[in-house]
Amino acid sequence: MDNCIFCKIVAGTIPSVRIHEDDDLIAFHDINPAAPVHLLIVPKEHVATLAECDERHAAMLGKMLLLAPKLAQQHGCGYAQADGDATGGFKTLVNTGPDGGQEVYHLHMHVIGGPRPWSGQR
Ligand code: AMP
Ligand code: ZN
Repeated sequence: MDNCIFCKIVAGTIPSVRIHEDDDLIAFHDINPAAPVHLLIVPKEHVATLAECDERHAAMLGKMLLLAPKLAQQHGCGYAQADGDATGGFKTLVNTGPDGGQEVYHLHMHVIGGPRPWSGQR
């Protein structure tokens, strides 16, 4: 998609702080973080919203969800439980459409975490 900022980030024509790449996905730091850790997981294929996904996207969506806790772990906000004590953790968020607060119409999942309180509203 010619005018899509995340397609340009996938192509590398707009810079990003990239933290992951595989055949289907990239991930990078959000430019305007709402918390100490704020990552975006983005499919390489242009799909505008979650509402436009269908069965053909099931594997890609599964990969996005499974990548989230791995990236959270690597960036210091992984969820852990030991001896009944839970620590860390993160929020996964997919905004969809205007009332969902979506600003960039290329599917993406926010991974937001780090010690609270967080500065931003997400
Ligand atoms: P959403 O409201 O779910 O569409 O979120 C879009 C997110 O993309 C926002 O959190 C922005 O801060 C982030 N964003 C926009 N442009 C860039 C960029 N060039 N690099 C990194 N993150 C971006
Ligand atoms: Zn795109």
